[in-house]
Amino acid sequence: MIAENLRSIRAHIPEHVALVCVSKFHSEEDIMEAYRSGERIFGESRVQELCGKYADLPKDIRWHFIGHLQTNKIRYIVPFVELIHSVDSFKLLSAIDAAASKAGRVVDCLLQMHIAREETKFGFSAEELDDMLQHDSWKSLQHVRICGLMGMATFTDDREQIAQEFTLLKDTFDHLKKCYFPTDAAFRELSMGMSEDYRIAIEHGSTMVRIGSSIFGARV
Ligand SMILES: *Cc1c(COP(=O)(O)O)cnc(C)c1O
Repeated sequence: MIAENLRSIRAHIPEHVALVCVSKFHSEEDIMEAYRSGERIFGESRVQELCGKYADLPKDIRWHFIGHLQTNKIRYIVPFVELIHSVDSFKLLSAIDAAASKAGRVVDCLLQMHIAREETKFGFSAEELDDMLQHDSWKSLQHVRICGLMGMATFTDDREQIAQEFTLLKDTFDHLKKCYFPTDAAFRELSMGMSEDYRIAIEHGSTMVRIGSSIFGARV
């Protein structure tokens, strides 16, 4: 079932777009089925769940953190996480930097931008991103690397609305690239697209899709 789901999803994902298999709330057996199909990038949204799975599962899995991250839990994931998609404040970025320094690593991060109509989704506005990047403080953080942006569209059937939100994210990405990262090859990821909207996201410039329920089934 999982292998079949992956085959049909993979058929719609071009080679330059990375697939993050969102395995939150799903079992280690389910993850291993995806692993045996060749998948290596898995995304989790809770620190404790991620750490348990990291301990149990093969070490060549590349773990991404996609959920809201609390400062006091950063240190548990910093030693091994490959990419944190959900940095939503300068304070969090600095705290990741401090923990990464202690762990002797540089941690790749994406800045999360709020593009949806819902109030509940975390993230910077376009203006807040400019405000943060205009100041030089972030440049002194030696143990985090800003690799791009992440965003979640409104949960709706209105494809036009979703396309508009992804366009806003892509335009913001291009603007930030030009203004603050023109020669920085690391700033290149645009993490957008989930089970219901990843094909729209890819049409609008996504480089990384985060897909859970279409691979693993509904979360319980
Ligand atoms: C749960 C989650 C996903 C995956 O959602 P699906 O609709 O199951 O594909 C993607 N991104 C984030 C940030 C999530 O929390």
